[in-house]
Amino acid sequence: MPRKASTYILRAQYDTLHIKQQPRNLNILHTKLRIGCSDLNADKFLIGVSDTDLCEHCGEGEVENANHFFLECGSNLVAKVEMHDKITDILSDKGLVHLLDIDLLLYGSDQLSLDENIQVFNHVQHSIKESNRFAN
Ligand SMILES: [Zn+2]
Repeated sequence: MPRKASTYILRAQYDTLHIKQQPRNLNILHTKLRIGCSDLNADKFLIGVSDTDLCEHCGEGEVENANHFFLECGSNLVAKVEMHDKITDILSDKGLVHLLDIDLLLYGSDQLSLDENIQVFNHVQHSIKESNRFAN
């Protein structure tokens, strides 16, 4: 997944603050999703510790990557809809609803302030916690 230079800057800013914002385990899970070494089947399949890269939670036969987990999978829908709605509220205030995609959820956006990016990440990490999908 290509990354913009600005996301590296944002990540550096975020890394200085995010530990104070959320429990460490949620920061770790979020980072694992960002770098492709999570417990999602697509990540585990790549390193040979899963026999399948498909999602075993929704039955849709889709590859279980971060995009599927956050934006497509029908499992744990309540937490995901809540995350989607709260992030949409942040984006709609600035007319930026079109930014809601997997890159925003994983890396943030240089079109948002640092505080807005932290709010987005807080909602993402709350959704990760509520999903109970990841051991940790
Ligand atoms: Zn699924």
